[in-house]
Amino acid sequence: MTDIQVIDGKTFQAGKILCLLRSYAAHAEEMGNAPSVKPDFFLKPSSAIIFHDENIIIPPQSEEVHHEVELAVLIGKGGSNIPAKQAEQHIAGYGILIDVTARDIQAKAKKNGKPWAIAKGFDTFAPVSDFMKKEKVTDVHNLDIWLRVNGDIRQMSNTSKLLFKIPEIIEFISARMTLEPGDIIATGTPEGVSRIMPGDIVEAGIDEIGILKVGVE
Ligand code: MG
Repeated sequence: MTDIQVIDGKTFQAGKILCLLRSYAAHAEEMGNAPSVKPDFFLKPSSAIIFHDENIIIPPQSEEVHHEVELAVLIGKGGSNIPAKQAEQHIAGYGILIDVTARDIQAKAKKNGKPWAIAKGFDTFAPVSDFMKKEKVTDVHNLDIWLRVNGDIRQMSNTSKLLFKIPEIIEFISARMTLEPGDIIATGTPEGVSRIMPGDIVEAGIDEIGILKVGVE
């Protein structure tokens, strides 16, 4: 079992990870896709979670693994059909998740009309930070979000560019599957995704939330 920590707060057993896709226009564009018009999402297994100072392991099946830095929302109180207006009560905190993606496997799966899990569910493909209590974050929809590889900035954006507000995302997802305490919503990545290689040091940060550093092997 994997424990998710809220800084100065409760510990949650990690549940399912719900990942938004094409939720920043500039990333959808760099992949040659249209941005989502509703909060489309896929599932990533909790077995993929690793933490600060651990290593992403490049699987033998892939030659091209990418980073995607994402703002993550930790669910503290479960529910289904949660109206946007009440969504705030269900949030325990905010963190950073790197949606590691085997881009070559994904490209093949997309061509065949298959879903995302095969490219995004490998062990170690979900590095997560500790979570900041929601009360400590002044405006979650206006935070700088960035990712560096070996000190070079690869991704730099702001959560104001997220096409959906978090309450709207929670309303949409919880109308389709029950959210449980310990579930994590990864809200999608801004532009600048790129390849990572064994030996790289990946640091991802979000203002007011923290920095998540992992290696690659
Ligand atoms: Mg992603």
